[in-house]
Amino acid sequence: MTLDPEACAVSGDGRLRHGAALKFFYGPMGAGKSTLALQLDHNHGRQGRVGMLLTRFNRSGEAKISSRIGLGRDAVEVTDETDLRALVRERWADGGRVDYLVCDEVHFYTEEHVDQLADLVDHSDVDVYAFGLATDFRTALFPAARKLFEMADELVRLQVEVLCWCGRPGLLNARVVDGTVAREGAQFVVGDITEAAEEQPADVHYQVLCRRHHRTGDLGPLTTAAGQLRLV
Ligand SMILES: [Zn+2]
Repeated sequence: MTLDPEACAVSGDGRLRHGAALKFFYGPMGAGKSTLALQLDHNHGRQGRVGMLLTRFNRSGEAKISSRIGLGRDAVEVTDETDLRALVRERWADGGRVDYLVCDEVHFYTEEHVDQLADLVDHSDVDVYAFGLATDFRTALFPAARKLFEMADELVRLQVEVLCWCGRPGLLNARVVDGTVAREGAQFVVGDITEAAEEQPADVHYQVLCRRHHRTGDLGPLTTAAGQLRLV
């Protein structure tokens, strides 16, 4: 089997360099993070590598990495108690291979999880590809995202076009509560996941805005409010 250097560079294959790497791919909702995660896994699989897919609070409500364009693959659901190192070692103990991890929705992971991922890279030579949001609706970094910014070998800002209603690049996720951009509230009131939370107002959705309109809270013409994306 020959390696296509260009394809490897794009997919992040670690065999063309020395040592594994921790990569963080981040972008706003709708930037195609989960789609890219699945594409990356597919590319690595074609090159004979074996990965493990992890997710947390996926939009489908199941332990899957699923994308808005209809792709999906089963994944391991991460919880607060999950030790990612143990997870990989168990797979190895069972005779399975794990060359890399694809971690979707990584903004929902804990900082401890990010430490565990760094351990896997540094001590077990497992490549880690993490995908998630950088900031919440207040433009504050998610704890796991901050940790990844501090620790990752490579940061990749996804450039898939996500536009604000004004046409500028959509950079920030706004939480819209009853038609107004929320400025405070729990970081983790996330779409469908916390439907059980009774204190949730009647109408909460997320909308990607440019920085200007996030700051001014301008949601644009009413027609754009309908059918907006839920949080990734
Ligand atoms: Zn705008």
